[in-house]
Amino acid sequence: MDFAFDNSFYVTMKGFYAAAEVAAPLAPKLLAFNDDLAKRLGLPVAGAGEDDLARILSGQKLPDGANLLAFAYAGHQFGHFSPQLGDGRALLLGEIVAPDGARFDIQLKGSGPTPFSRNGDGKAAIGPVLREYLVSEAMAAMGVPTTRSLAAVATGDRVQRERAHPGAVLTRVASSHIRVGTFQFFAAHYGADHVIRLSDYSINRHFPDLADAANPHIALLDRVIGLQCDLVAHWLGVGFIHGVMNTDNIAISGETLDYGPCAFMDRFAVNTVFSSIDVNGRYAYGRQPQIMHWNMARFAEALLPAIHAVDPVDVEQAKAIVAAVPERFREAWFARMRAKLGLVASSETDADLFDGLFDALERHSVDFTSFFRALAMLLRGDDAPLSALLPQRDGMASWIDNWRKRIDLATVDLMERAAAMDAVNPLYIPRNHLVEAALEAAEAGDMGPWRDLLEVVRHPFESRDDWEVYAQPAPETFGPYTTFC
Ligand code: AMP
Ligand code: MG
Ligand code: MG
Repeated sequence: MDFAFDNSFYVTMKGFYAAAEVAAPLAPKLLAFNDDLAKRLGLPVAGAGEDDLARILSGQKLPDGANLLAFAYAGHQFGHFSPQLGDGRALLLGEIVAPDGARFDIQLKGSGPTPFSRNGDGKAAIGPVLREYLVSEAMAAMGVPTTRSLAAVATGDRVQRERAHPGAVLTRVASSHIRVGTFQFFAAHYGADHVIRLSDYSINRHFPDLADAANPHIALLDRVIGLQCDLVAHWLGVGFIHGVMNTDNIAISGETLDYGPCAFMDRFAVNTVFSSIDVNGRYAYGRQPQIMHWNMARFAEALLPAIHAVDPVDVEQAKAIVAAVPERFREAWFARMRAKLGLVASSETDADLFDGLFDALERHSVDFTSFFRALAMLLRGDDAPLSALLPQRDGMASWIDNWRKRIDLATVDLMERAAAMDAVNPLYIPRNHLVEAALEAAEAGDMGPWRDLLEVVRHPFESRDDWEVYAQPAPETFGPYTTFC
């Protein structure tokens, strides 16, 4: 099979990666294949059978023109700098250019050890692979920038974690895999010339409009910060908790990258953490904007040699851009909140309105996702969904009054407003109890529940009667939830 690879990183960035090989699995079996994405990418898979796809997307039979490589990168992990990470369980097959001209990395994750594996086995278990596939596709359907999942293939091997699991390989599609940590690696080990090359490559690939800026590296910093502000605002808006916002997991494209112990918040609590390894709550729901700011400061530091090389005076500008992150984030976040609440124009009272809302949601332990759909129902004259969410019927009466005043001020068509809210507030997210049940069944050999859930989360905004159960919060018996890497 010929993917018509066009491997720009491999060809032009020698020294920024290590050559690597796949550990070909003995008995690959296709678990899932994303036809829509394959079409969007223009991949020539129309005639391919499941066995062909399984062989190709597990690395057993490499497509023509593949140039396997493992990216080098470093990263701050939970605040501590690791100078040497790199793709330890992933391999780039190559880059393709979609019919619309957009360039994508096609990567196999879980395909065996690489020069960067350190003590790891380079493999992935079926659970994390199917979690990433499901959640990334849900994020894409909700309009959140993200890497995508083209396929999941069971390898037939066992992968030893706390116990043995079936192994699998995910085919990940990203507009690139260049991370903040990629810049950190070359800043730490090589210095200005390498950082400049990486920055130039990144600009050329992602943001060609910045090439002519007075200091392109400053322009890159500024653009990436803008994308990260939007991304984290998106995350907070859908209750997403990434779980491992280490700088090696932050893509400069602004796509959500590396779905590990991520999960969606159910009852609103600003300190929500699901990851078993995040013992100090560094990456809690409400800390994500601050961490993004911190990560962007690390990005600026890594870019500094390049910025300085163009003009030492520009270093001050870089500092100012980083200092302005909280304000930029707030703008992105407030815009998102206004959309969620059906508000058309900004107001000086926005901050009070939003703070009041989060206080009330937390005080009453309200299901975050359901709440915004229930608000839209209020505009349609139906207060039953909201009452059902609140322990006391009038628990949020004064906040609701304030919000209604803002809505009515704008004198818009209420039905239209409600529809606009429903278009940005998901009804179906990958709820933790459903994800767990789906992964458990898949591990036992039954892909049915996973496929059903995938179908639902691919349509996050449309209400369907037969999907009612997917919109419900976890039953009390589900208990507190913990995720693992
Ligand atoms: P992550 O927590 O997935 O962001 O990974 C952090 C680093 O550990 C990256 O360099 C990964 O490539 C590496 N890594 C994670 N799991 C494995 C594994 N099973 N084998 C080898 N390397 C791994
Ligand atoms: Mg990672
Ligand atoms: Mg990971």
